Amino acid sequence: MKLTQINKTYGNKHVLKDITLEFPAGQITVLVGPSGSGKSTILRSLNLLVMPESGQYDFNGHQIDFRQPVSNKEKLAIRRETGMVFQNYNLFPHKTVLNNVTEGPTQVLKMDRQQANELAREVLTKVGMADYGDVYPSELSGGQAQRVAIARALAMKPRYVLLDEPTSALDPELELSVLKVLLQLAREKQSMVLVTHNMAFAKQIADKIVFVENGEIIYDGAPEKFFSTENPNERIRNFIASMT
Ligand code: ADP
Ligand code: MG
Repeated sequence: MKLTQINKTYGNKHVLKDITLEFPAGQITVLVGPSGSGKSTILRSLNLLVMPESGQYDFNGHQIDFRQPVSNKEKLAIRRETGMVFQNYNLFPHKTVLNNVTEGPTQVLKMDRQQANELAREVLTKVGMADYGDVYPSELSGGQAQRVAIARALAMKPRYVLLDEPTSALDPELELSVLKVLLQLAREKQSMVLVTHNMAFAKQIADKIVFVENGEIIYDGAPEKFFSTENPNERIRNFIASMT
């Protein structure tokens, strides 16, 4: 998928400035950069939670021109194909783990209950949460809750999984359980777009690194060059140093 010359403003604040960015299928694109630089706005544009004022979006050959109204049908179709995972899990507190995962397949995909339960068990196994189907979110650790949130996204079989700082709320030992799941998904060539402040993990998982600053793309390319101590961009070298 690809964004071309995207612009987004809030009031008189120009938050995304003519951004052009490709998110190759089967790859992990990692967005890094200072707070407030526009990373979440880019991610949210990809599933149309944010609507840029101008620019184009190519989603698997389907073209959207942000200057034109986007129909609800198009929005729903793209949201279904882009599973979003948030920093704070956003699980339904009054539903069990299993029912959190089956909600989308039964309500949106109109899957029958038995089929949805089987699918839920499959994706919960994938994230190491198969034994927690009957548990409520309040009984889970942050790492467990986030893995359920990932399972919930996977249950929709999205083309892309979008993750906005999925481990920022977690202690390091709980973070590791989530990072392992993401590494496994990467091995399976699940297309992902990840925003993270964990530079060591970004280096490990990224096929491509994008550095965003002040609504602009400062770097878009290989992780090796980005993290190299020889990176000619001093601003990037300082950013990496400040984060590690
Ligand atoms: P990041 O994820 O890199 O921290 P964001 O994409 O969340 O950055 O935000 C980029 C800029 O847009 C920030 O200055 C932020 O304050 C502003 N912004 C984001 N969302 C809104 C909104 N809904 N209303 C007004 N300003 C917003
Ligand atoms: Mg953000």
